[in-house]
Amino acid sequence: NTSGIPVTTHPRWIRINTLKTTLEDQLATTFKDYTRAAEVSEVQKRGGKKIFLDAHVPNLIAVPPSADLTKSAAYTSGALIFQDKASCFPAYLLDPLAEDGDVIDSCAAPGNKTTHLASILASHSPAVDIADPSTLAELPQRIHAFEKDKVRATTLAKMVALAGSEGMTKIHAATDFLKADPESPQFAKVGALLLDPSCSGSGIVGRDDMPELHLPSEAKGGPAAGGKPGGKGAKGKGKGKDKPAEDEKPSSQKRKRDSEEEEKVEVLLDDDGVPTAITSAQDLQARLAALAAFQLTLLLHAMRFPGARKITYSTCSEHNEENEGVVLAALGSEVARERGWRVLRRDEQVGGMKRWDVRGVEGPEGEYEKISEGCIRANKGDGEGTMGFFVCPFVRDGEGGDVEA
Ligand code: SAM
Repeated sequence: NTSGIPVTTHPRWIRINTLKTTLEDQLATTFKDYTRAAEVSEVQKRGGKKIFLDAHVPNLIAVPPSADLTKSAAYTSGALIFQDKASCFPAYLLDPLAEDGDVIDSCAAPGNKTTHLASILASHSPAVDIADPSTLAELPQRIHAFEKDKVRATTLAKMVALAGSEGMTKIHAATDFLKADPESPQFAKVGALLLDPSCSGSGIVGRDDMPELHLPSEAKGGPAAGGKPGGKGAKGKGKGKDKPAEDEKPSSQKRKRDSEEEEKVEVLLDDDGVPTAITSAQDLQARLAALAAFQLTLLLHAMRFPGARKITYSTCSEHNEENEGVVLAALGSEVARERGWRVLRRDEQVGGMKRWDVRGVEGPEGEYEKISEGCIRANKGDGEGTMGFFVCPFVRDGEGGDVEA
């Protein structure tokens, strides 16, 4: 760096878990010695006690990456959740309201978005009093959290318990979301679904910025914390809450970023954890095509729930194929056309997301032009301090399938 501009790093984003505490309480206690930063750039340098209050997502703060909060009472009690800003977009954008009924989180572990959903649902209910956790269990709405991987489901259960959302969350452990029957009476009240499937993970920020699964050590539960037990394919690089589980992917090959050469080298791991470099553009294209097919299958399944009115689809990938490409394919499907699913326009989106200017790409041939404004992107390294991320909100205002109270 010869420019004289200080090297910036990824800030430590922290979601205030409003099931356990409030932003005001945290500012007065855990962060009482911190001074307010006016810009996110001020917390993108190591050192100092500065705190930035995010302008888009409520109850989200950022501190310098050097601030060690892992031993703070607030963190170990689940009042603070380490979660990248962009990873907070899906639950906030889904904005499940009381009239939306139950919510499905289809790909839930380790549970960052599940617990965020719980916090939002509770915030919409005047009956909830965080000083009395029994009021949470009495909420009429439920979150159905699916996780196919048994070990990761254990981590999910621990995170949900630590975050105080156990009473309102039904965990479908070691259960494939694709096996959930949309017509089953247990899902009759489902009005909103959050889809955050496994992806290439190309938007994940390097190893130092994303501690393992963002759980206090006592809640990690052994090998689940690192993803796959035995550590195959999970050698501590590119770890993050959105790091895909290594064994649920549609292809037998497992891909990760080489953190030393993050922008240049793509690494595939085979079933034995042996790295195989992607040597050609065709290899990468084949990998992306397999992932996109898997992601589209999940999205179309979500669109089949009869009472569903809202869906968010998200990835931590920077590749169009997994993002706008999947959205466009879903909109062209029979189920989307029959049921009237469409992309929620920017002007219809929840306040903070409406103000977020980084939108979907239009594509080299302009193929995504019609949907790009409704889609949301975050680009790593663009000064906003986020990981690379994509989210698209879908809404359905067609006939039938109303959620009953
Ligand atoms: N939403 C999570 C969070 O914010 O903490 C991260 C989800 S991670 C990107 C994807 C997860 O989906 C993995 O844990 C994976 O095991 C799970 N998964 C993949 N396919 C699934 C399926 N068909 N049904 C349920 N879970 C699935």
